[in-house]
Amino acid sequence: MTHTEAVDSHRLRQPATDSNILITGGAGFLGSHLSELLASRGNHIYCLDNFHTGRAANLAHLSATNRLTIVQHDIRSEIPNTLPPFSEIYNLACPASPIHYQADPVSTAMINCQGAWNVLRRAEQDGARVFHASTSEVYGDPEMHPQPESYWGNVNPVGPRSCYDEGKRFAETLFTDFGKTRGVTVRIVRIFNTFGPRMQPDDGRVVSNFVIQALLGKPLTVYGDGSQTRSFCYVSDLIRGFDLLMRSETANSPVNLGNPDEFTIEELAHLVLEMTGSKSSVTRLPLPVDDPKRRRPDISKAKELLNWAPVISLREGLLRTIKYFEAELRMRPATSAAE
Ligand code: UDP
Repeated sequence: MTHTEAVDSHRLRQPATDSNILITGGAGFLGSHLSELLASRGNHIYCLDNFHTGRAANLAHLSATNRLTIVQHDIRSEIPNTLPPFSEIYNLACPASPIHYQADPVSTAMINCQGAWNVLRRAEQDGARVFHASTSEVYGDPEMHPQPESYWGNVNPVGPRSCYDEGKRFAETLFTDFGKTRGVTVRIVRIFNTFGPRMQPDDGRVVSNFVIQALLGKPLTVYGDGSQTRSFCYVSDLIRGFDLLMRSETANSPVNLGNPDEFTIEELAHLVLEMTGSKSSVTRLPLPVDDPKRRRPDISKAKELLNWAPVISLREGLLRTIKYFEAELRMRPATSAAE
């Protein structure tokens, strides 16, 4: 944390109201929750999405309002000048789950350089404050535990995760340097594993996979011996953190947001089985290459600068997520790749 950040901590500006706000990747899991919050304040939300992993259904609850415009667009191309000027831009566009971001690694890398460039150029042109969704993947397979923002990470530059990890690292550089040299106000969040309603059922993420598998009575697929750890943040906690970070007048460098409660994947499997009352078995599959062994955020900086900490436990969040997937499976019984 820099001296200025610490001295002025907690200084927040008023939330935007009645403004045009751009969210790239707005039809995704996080984008849809963020749109909801920002629209509830009377803003007009422009959701840009190429619908590669986003779904229009995620925005259905806002479509009936006059506060949402959905634009099908890929941020690797310049953001259309036909759109009005924005006061704020949130850059969330990028496939985030390993199966999706590895399916076309060149595209993932380019979203994080060409896409970041297009977003920043537009922010500069409009005088918009810009928020960038980075990731705990910038720490790679960490040698420091838990991970503070000051840790530089342990990333393989040429492995299967590199397109995402190095892409996000490069994007952090580009956002930071636009902030330093071009007068653009930049906020960067490093997001740790997040879960909740509107996760895509075929995303391949561990929480969605386990919940769907348990509900369908299929074996839960634990990769490796299940001793690797993750720390799971419920989506409403994360979105509250996004809002505080965007409004912070002091957080000029990346901030971790995530839940510091750490679980092994094996523990998660058993918790899901218990909470769903499922009779599913647990099956072992090979551990993916470069899968991080441990991950837990150090959230001291978010506490200090934003007065933020998560309040929803894994168990409470799972309860809500299980209910969501139960309803989804009733409506769309055959949509899941987790089966
Ligand atoms: N994982 C698993 N079974 C699954 C999906 C994932 O055991 O069906 C493991 C995966 O190997 C990793 C952890 O769960 O160790 C979290 O995986 P996820 O893809 O959700 O997120 P990330 O690896 O990006 O943290």
